[in-house]
Amino acid sequence: MPAPPERTEVTAAPPRIAIVDDDAFQREVMRQLLFNLGHDAVEDWPSGAFALQRLAQIDSARMLLIIDLEMPGMDGVELMRGLAQRRYAGAIALISVVGGRVLESAVRLAREHGFNVVGHARKPASLPMLRAVVQAWSESATAAPQRPRRSYGVAELRRALVQDELILEYQPQVALSDGRFAAVEALVRWQHPFDGVVGPGDFVEDIEAHGLIDELTDRVLALALAQAACWREQVGLTPRIAVNMSMDNLYRLDFPDRLRAALAAHRLGPATLLLELTESRLMSHRAASMDILTRLRLHHVQLAIDDFGTGHSSLAQLRDLPFDELKIDRSFVHGSTHSTTQRAIVAASIEMAHLLGMRTVAEGVEDEADWLAVRAAGCDVAQGWFIARPMSGAALPAWCAEREQWLRDADPYVVDFDEFAGSSGSTPQGVPIH
Ligand code: C2E
Ligand code: MG
Ligand code: MG
Repeated sequence: MPAPPERTEVTAAPPRIAIVDDDAFQREVMRQLLFNLGHDAVEDWPSGAFALQRLAQIDSARMLLIIDLEMPGMDGVELMRGLAQRRYAGAIALISVVGGRVLESAVRLAREHGFNVVGHARKPASLPMLRAVVQAWSESATAAPQRPRRSYGVAELRRALVQDELILEYQPQVALSDGRFAAVEALVRWQHPFDGVVGPGDFVEDIEAHGLIDELTDRVLALALAQAACWREQVGLTPRIAVNMSMDNLYRLDFPDRLRAALAAHRLGPATLLLELTESRLMSHRAASMDILTRLRLHHVQLAIDDFGTGHSSLAQLRDLPFDELKIDRSFVHGSTHSTTQRAIVAASIEMAHLLGMRTVAEGVEDEADWLAVRAAGCDVAQGWFIARPMSGAALPAWCAEREQWLRDADPYVVDFDEFAGSSGSTPQGVPIH
């Protein structure tokens, strides 16, 4: 093993890429392949310990480390622990002879450490694999850095609620069998006077923490029902509307009655509305929630279990509550073609939901591969950027008309999708691209 360099000052021109692998032959092959791809500033480091020593001497913020998981002495997982302790800020790609679930867990661990993981693959490394890694690395370097979540105080949040600063966007859902528009999910946004449009990820938690979630839900329901009445009256559009609720909303026993009154005031049937639920914290009013949800179902309002499989939405909830729909979280859906584990979870969730008589919705269908995979798995409905981004209520009728026209013209369902087994490989032409 070569001795680590002795200098301790930061070098002027650090390497762009380093290969950490105990196998000298593999290092040489990868170095040659990277050279063929135009990268000559590549170092090969024979062990994790060597890597940590070398990194202490250089500015590594813009580097890519290609790490072999199986190394004698310090293995790849231990090396990542050391990198996290030293706040390594460059990119990482993982390679391993084992592949499969071990490699997938190592990738998740790397992301848990906060690393920018630009690829993972089974050994031996190949030119296409390294090309993909290097491309993802250069794309990530130009991507916007993640910013920390904003935080808002109670006075500002109250003002947003009373001064009509909240608006809704609507994301279409389509049937996977024929691509037709099926429903919308209402998603709240805050038109902040100084910060611009703020997404729910930046303020719903604060709303919950300040005990204002009832006010938020009331406002969202009022906006969604008014929009539904407007679509029906102006363009004859009557989609099912899904509204997100927090379990914390479910303690006021008169909620089903108030909801029924609000629906009646807009002359809307209860089946227009679907309530999406996740278990944000421990259900603190268990009996009241079950009372309210069971009555809502008796009154024909539909219920969905949202983000299924994430730990906030559990099997116990499925057992105890009368859900109509199961929404598979996008962390299982997006990229499922590349992960046997994700595919197994998606398939099992769909089968279980169908056994329980529930409709299934795949969230986060971002690309054609996701679409084909969930379709092959027998899912009923898809939602995601591949179909449409969330849009204003005013924009939805035009989107629906355009989609109808496109389905008529393109006849995209002539392809025999059933031949697609959900694995990576060539995908048939003619699937919906919007
Ligand atoms: P959710 O209910 O699971 O909603 C889906 C989220 O995924 C939305 O984010 C949507 O914009 C995003 N999304 C849709 N398609 C794709 C895709 O293909 N790829 C990716 N990466 N993302 C996609 P958004 O609008 O930021 O909402 C985030 C979460 O905030 C929602 O997750 C929901 O839990 C919560 N939320 C939204 N509106 C409300 C509301 O009115 N009340 C409450 N209590 N929570 C809300
Ligand atoms: Mg939702
Ligand atoms: Mg969700």
